[in-house]
Amino acid sequence: MNDKIQVKDVTKSYDLYKAHQKIYIRRIKGYFNSLRFSGNIVLFALFFGIPWITQANRQSVLFDLPARKFHIFNITFWPQDFILLSWFMIIAAFALFFVTVIAGRIWCGYTCPQSAWTWIFVWIEEKTEGKRNSRIKLDAESASVLKGLRKTAKHVLWLLVGFLTAATFVGYFYPIRELFVDIARLDLSGWSLFFIGFFTLATYGNAGWLREQVCIYMCPYARFQSVMFDKDTLIVSYDPARGEHRGRRRRGVDPSTIGLGDCIDCDLCVQVCPTGIDIRDGLQYECISCAACVDACDSVMDKMGYEPGLISYTTESNLLGVKTKFFRPRLIGYGITMIVIIAMFAVTLNQRIPLELDIIRDRDVLHRITAEGNIENRYNLKIMNMSHDDKEFILSASGLDNLTIVDAPQILIPAGGTLDFRIQLEAPTTAMNVPRKTIYLSVTEQPDTGIRVTEETRFFGPIY
Ligand code: SF4
Ligand code: SF4
Repeated sequence: MNDKIQVKDVTKSYDLYKAHQKIYIRRIKGYFNSLRFSGNIVLFALFFGIPWITQANRQSVLFDLPARKFHIFNITFWPQDFILLSWFMIIAAFALFFVTVIAGRIWCGYTCPQSAWTWIFVWIEEKTEGKRNSRIKLDAESASVLKGLRKTAKHVLWLLVGFLTAATFVGYFYPIRELFVDIARLDLSGWSLFFIGFFTLATYGNAGWLREQVCIYMCPYARFQSVMFDKDTLIVSYDPARGEHRGRRRRGVDPSTIGLGDCIDCDLCVQVCPTGIDIRDGLQYECISCAACVDACDSVMDKMGYEPGLISYTTESNLLGVKTKFFRPRLIGYGITMIVIIAMFAVTLNQRIPLELDIIRDRDVLHRITAEGNIENRYNLKIMNMSHDDKEFILSASGLDNLTIVDAPQILIPAGGTLDFRIQLEAPTTAMNVPRKTIYLSVTEQPDTGIRVTEETRFFGPIY
């Protein structure tokens, strides 16, 4: 069996340049709606709640860009940890590929912020302007005070949600408690004001006005997802063998006796679709797998006394009467790659030493002969204590006989702090039989807990 899914040539039936038709989404109750609602409540609670959690007098999750430190609960990531961030992004990408091969676009339908915020905005629209038919009627009406009030209430609430979203988002980059105090005092800095304004308008525009157009025209994931689909990927699909021929009929009439299938052509599945498509036309790239049409059709089937599942989560294989295969080479490949990268990420994170040493040789003079006849080299050191505790360290030098640190400093660095200082190293001339030697400087935590970093540098002497 060819494992490619059939594609409909939409360019022949669509006018690609037609004006955008406003979609009046009808909200529907049902199993998948409840699932999505519960999931979104958890996600909103995490998004709005996490920046308010404090730990040891500091915001638990704070991406402090000016200080170039990312605090994530017990760990602080520094620019030196960029590799971990890269691996985290790669893991996230492979997790998305893995889930997509199994379950299609469920990320889009259930957890994508664009979908989650759109559903909040639809709910506000319904509370202020009424249900779908009332909204269509309201838009068709000429201007009136009531219409103005309803529309104003909707936009004010949309902007309020947009503002709360934006302020919370900025609160991940700027201490959120200070930010909200500044907001209350109307004393925001220029950058805070700019970003809160920008993200307020972005949320308002994306979830209120653009909605499905973000998914259809702007989201790159929608473009490449089809590459990951195969005939065993879970998709939302209408069963034409059972539904056709579609047509209206009275309740209680056996459709087979009048040459009809189970679809009563009520259009409810189209009315609830947030992207405005008719799933009965087959799999389309606009479908975000939200299953609103499944809930809608199941409610119709229930009223008609038919079995649910005319529209359902299924696979192309199932629809063709072939058993769906769960383990496929592509899925196994993504799974193995993901596990390997997660293991590497975990090992790197585990071996991460919260201490950094930078050495820069003094550029003014290569070396100096002291009054005692020793060779002296100078270095500028920068030590970063990347832990959450104040620490004491000692410095040691090796790589050359009788190499010593002149007036070795006591090194006390506060949590998350950096110390810059200069040192002089001395070695007897007898230790140098070549003009340049590689030496090593080590910083060790006191008392010794095994946390140590060692960096190499050069020691120069006279040319004989
Ligand atoms: S909701 Fe079900 S019955 Fe109604 S049009 Fe859609 S597929 Fe047919
Ligand atoms: S066709 Fe169904 S699953 Fe797909 S986006 Fe529309 S309502 Fe959601």
